[in-house]
Amino acid sequence: MTDLRELEARARAGSVPTPDEGLVVCDNVVRVYRTEDVEVQALQGLDLVVREGECMALVGASGSGKSTLLAILSGLDTPTAGSARVAGHDLLSMRRRERLGYRRRTVGFVWQQTGRNLLPYLTAVENVTLPMKYTGVPRARREARATELLGVLGIAHCRDRRPAELSGGEQQRVAVAVATANSPRVLLADEPTGELDTASGEDVFAALRRANDELGATVLVVTHDPMVSGQVRRTVRIRDGRTSTETLRDGGPDGGAEEFAVLDRVGRLQLPDDYLRRYGLRHRVRLTAENDHIGVWPDA
Ligand code: ADP
Ligand code: MG
Repeated sequence: MTDLRELEARARAGSVPTPDEGLVVCDNVVRVYRTEDVEVQALQGLDLVVREGECMALVGASGSGKSTLLAILSGLDTPTAGSARVAGHDLLSMRRRERLGYRRRTVGFVWQQTGRNLLPYLTAVENVTLPMKYTGVPRARREARATELLGVLGIAHCRDRRPAELSGGEQQRVAVAVATANSPRVLLADEPTGELDTASGEDVFAALRRANDELGATVLVVTHDPMVSGQVRRTVRIRDGRTSTETLRDGGPDGGAEEFAVLDRVGRLQLPDDYLRRYGLRHRVRLTAENDHIGVWPDA
């Protein structure tokens, strides 16, 4: 699909990921919103690497910058500074034409508001075929792919119904089918279960897992829902527009989890709030170099 000359041009521009890089690489991403005389720093140097094949959750208080990050990764918005790459696309320098292709083929998106994901006058199967029309998939292939996707996501029975005839959970699962119609490398979902009850939320999350396991999409879900973050291996927490901590679940029978703090390129790290409180850490801490670890002590 990509011709060699384009690949070489990209390599010269430095936008081809090295093999050990992630599929999504955000380095010191800043997004400042300027409205009249107020300035909001929605992202203040955010670092994030997502490896191909991961299914991960992004959590954080309201206003911490989660939707801003997803808008950037989806190609809807552009960072003010820093670097952000997805599947070899440089999200800062990408021009209109590349952006359009990126949004149609490389990423899929599911919004929180069920009404925003689907066209109300089209049936489920028609909604799913629509993105494939824009990428030039032949008509017969579109129908077959849409039907297959609805089956994989457990909503074959919704095929010929319009959104108004579907439950909220069914609508969101159809939205996952729409978002994966063109086999995107990355599937982004911004609080997709936010308007749903627990049972429907679980169904939608199961659909996201299938998109990851069976359709091969790398999945990044923003959620407030502790149920969702309990089901993924890695949860990254955003605080004040920066990634602060990561929780990794080992997947063992005891459901053990390890907490990590993100260390940026220049060695800064942010300690979790509860540690600051529990150990009375303020202003500065005393560091001790041990054999295989560093001790962090209150400055008493
Ligand atoms: P979250 O999704 O984590 O709740 P957002 O990314 O929506 O957070 O917002 C982060 C910050 O940026 C908030 O302070 C919000 O008010 C501000 N913000 C978001 N979008 C805009 C915008 N279009 N114009 C101005 N400020 C915005
Ligand atoms: Mg949000």
